[in-house]
Amino acid sequence: MTQIQSQSQSQSTIVIGGGIAGLTVAYRLQSAGGDVTLLEANDQIGGPVQTVLSEGFLAELGPNTILETSPRVTALVTDLGLDEQKVYANDASAKRFLVRNKQPHALPSSPGGMLTTPLFSPMGKLGMVKELFKGSWDNRYEESLAQFVVRRLGKEFLDYVINPFVAGVYAGDPEHLSVKHGFPKLYELEQKYGGLVKGQIKGAKERKKRQEKSKQAARMFSFKGGLKMLPEMLATKLGNAVRKNARVTDISQIDGKWQVSFSTGGGAVTQLQAEKVIYAGTAFGIPNLTVNGRPEPEFKPFDEIYHPPVFSLTLGFKREDVQHPLDGFGMLIPKVEGFNILGALFTSTLFPMRAPQDHVTLTIFIGGVRQPELAAKPVDELITLALVDLKVTLGVTGKPVYTHHQFWPKAIPQYDVGYGQYKDRLDELESRYPGLYFTGNYRNGISVADTIKNAVELSDRLLGIEPEEDT
Ligand SMILES: Cc1cc2nc3c(=O)[nH]c(=O)nc-3n(C[C@H](O)[C@H](O)[C@H](O)COP(=O)(O)OP(=O)(O)OC[C@H]3O[C@@H](n4cnc5c(N)ncnc54)[C@H](O)[C@@H]3O)c2cc1C
Repeated sequence: MTQIQSQSQSQSTIVIGGGIAGLTVAYRLQSAGGDVTLLEANDQIGGPVQTVLSEGFLAELGPNTILETSPRVTALVTDLGLDEQKVYANDASAKRFLVRNKQPHALPSSPGGMLTTPLFSPMGKLGMVKELFKGSWDNRYEESLAQFVVRRLGKEFLDYVINPFVAGVYAGDPEHLSVKHGFPKLYELEQKYGGLVKGQIKGAKERKKRQEKSKQAARMFSFKGGLKMLPEMLATKLGNAVRKNARVTDISQIDGKWQVSFSTGGGAVTQLQAEKVIYAGTAFGIPNLTVNGRPEPEFKPFDEIYHPPVFSLTLGFKREDVQHPLDGFGMLIPKVEGFNILGALFTSTLFPMRAPQDHVTLTIFIGGVRQPELAAKPVDELITLALVDLKVTLGVTGKPVYTHHQFWPKAIPQYDVGYGQYKDRLDELESRYPGLYFTGNYRNGISVADTIKNAVELSDRLLGIEPEEDT
C-alpha cells in the first residue's frame, strides 16, 4: 500500500544524493541559513568514500586520497573543524613507480632523470624532447586522450605513462577517454600555450596568482581515521536534514515549487516540496527519475555513460614478507605488461595508522575498462591473481594477514569522446526546469576534490555569492 505524506517548506532546497557532492552543497546551503533536506537512497552516506578499521588495519573501500587542488577543498575541511584530523601524505609519496619489463621503476622527477631512466627507450625520450618544438593543432575533431598523447609525445609515453595513469585515476582507457572533457587542463595547455612543456611553465605562474595547484604539485591528504571522516562530519553537521533509505523516484513542478517523491521501503512514498531541487545522485540514476509523473526523454541518454566495474582489495602483510621498500605512492601497471591488477597503492607508506607495527598495507585495484570481466570474479580467485602479480613486482612472499575487499559494479563515469553532449544536456535541462540543478562526479571532474569544488561553486551560485576571480 502506498502511504502519501506531504510536507511543505518555504525557501527550501531538497538535495538528492548523499555522496560528497550532495553533502557538500547541502552543508553549504544550510550553513548560510537555508532550509535543506538531503535524501539518500542507501542506508549510508558518502557514496564510495567508505573506510573500515579492523585488526589495526585501515581499509579505504573507494578513494584513498584527496588532492588539494583547490582552495575550496581546504576551506571546507577547515570550516568543518577537521584540520586537526587531516594528514598529508608522507614526502616519500612524491615517488611513483611504473612497471616495465615486470619490474617497478621510479618515474623520474627531473628532466635529467628522464635521460637516464630505464623506463623509456632512447626513441621514446627523443619523442618527449620533440614535444617542446611541436606547434598546436587546429582541432579538426575531438581527440581521444590516446590520439592526443601519441601526436604530442609518442606511443611509448602513451603505453608506459598515460595508460597506467588513467587506469589509476579513472579505471579508464585512454583510447576512449576524451582529452577535452576528461583532461581539460591538459587540453588547455596545448590550446592556450601551444604545447605541454611550454604550458607547464606558463601555467604554473598563473596558478600561483590564483592560489591553485596543479595536480602534480597539489598535496595529497586523508584523515587520521580515513576519508570517511569527511562525509561523516558533513552528515553530523547536517543533523536531521539527512534522511537515509530515501530513494527519490519523481520530481514534479507544482504551483511554482518542486515536489519530490521518495520511497522509504515497505511501499511507503513520501512527498516533500521545496523551491529548489539539486540532483547530486549518480549519472546512471538520472534516467530512473520521472518528471511530473512521466519519463523525461532527455534523462534517458545518461544511462549510456559507461561506469566500469572495479574490485578494490586491501591486503595487510608482515613487513618481512614484502621485499620492495614500498618507498613511494604506489605502483601503476601499463596494459602492455600483461598483469591482472591495475596497480597497488603503498597505503601504509602514504599515511600513518594504516597498519600495525611491523606490517604494511597495500590497496589493489582490479578491473576497470581494461578488464571489466575480471572485477566480478570470485573474491578468492581475485586475491590469488593479485598475490601472483605482487610476488613478481614487489617480491611479496607471504600470505596476507589481513584482507578487505569491495566490488563497485559501476565505479567511475568515463568522460569518453563525445562527453560534451551530456554536459550540454545538463545545461539545457537546468534552463528548461528552473529551480532544478545538477552536480556530482558526472559533471566537470570525477575526483573528490573536483566534486567538492563544483558543489561549493553551485552553492555559491544559489546563495548569490560572486564567483572568485579565475576559479
Ligand atoms: C574504487 C574507487 C576509487 C576512487 N579513488 C579516488 C581517489 O583516490 N581520489 C579521488 O579524488 N577520487 C576517487 N574516486 C572517485 C570519487 O570517489 C567519486 O567520483 C566521488 O566520491 C563521487 O561523489 P558524488 O557525490 O558525485 O557521487 P556518489 O558518491 O556516487 O553519490 C551519489 C549518491 O546519490 C545516491 N543516489 C543516487 N540516486 C538516488 C536517488 N534517486 N535518490 C536518493 N539518492 C540517490 C547514491 O546512493 C549515492 O550515495 C574513486 C572512486 C571509486 C569508485
